[in-house]
Amino acid sequence: MVVATLGVVALATVGRPALERAWFVYSLATDTAPAHLLNPVRDVRARKFVNSWDAPRSGGRRHQGIDIFAPKDTLVVSTTRGLVTRVGTNRLGGQIVTVLGPGLESHYYAHLDRFGAFHAGDIVNPGDVLGYVGNNGNARGTPSHLHYGIYGHHGAENPSFVRPGFDEPWR
Ligand SMILES: [Zn+2]
Repeated sequence: MVVATLGVVALATVGRPALERAWFVYSLATDTAPAHLLNPVRDVRARKFVNSWDAPRSGGRRHQGIDIFAPKDTLVVSTTRGLVTRVGTNRLGGQIVTVLGPGLESHYYAHLDRFGAFHAGDIVNPGDVLGYVGNNGNARGTPSHLHYGIYGHHGAENPSFVRPGFDEPWR
């Protein structure tokens, strides 16, 4: 009886976040990818968007995202609700955050100068601060910018149907 009670308590304290995450991911999977996204860089003018999707890059790569130029330390916010799947570093992106969003699209935010308060496993809402604009990874030496990419079921998707204005729908 005591063991059973302890088990229930353990489930309630340890299991609940995992169950909530599982339920949340299920809700993302059954949701459709949003037709409109927040501007991930706060207070940046639309002209600073550079639609460089598919532009050639070193090593035969293609640019699988868009670059949004802004002063270092400008807030980078989540374009969607989602589950933070990674807060870390890689060679090209430097300091990066990935968020699993509606329709199970993965949203990729790169070259961050520093991170926000979220960790892998956290749930975020649109507008939550994921980090701050920087220029690390393969952007070292370039003007600071956010590299933003979306990866869906068929790989990288073009997020760059850019519309003018702040926080306007742009996809
Ligand atoms: Zn880029």
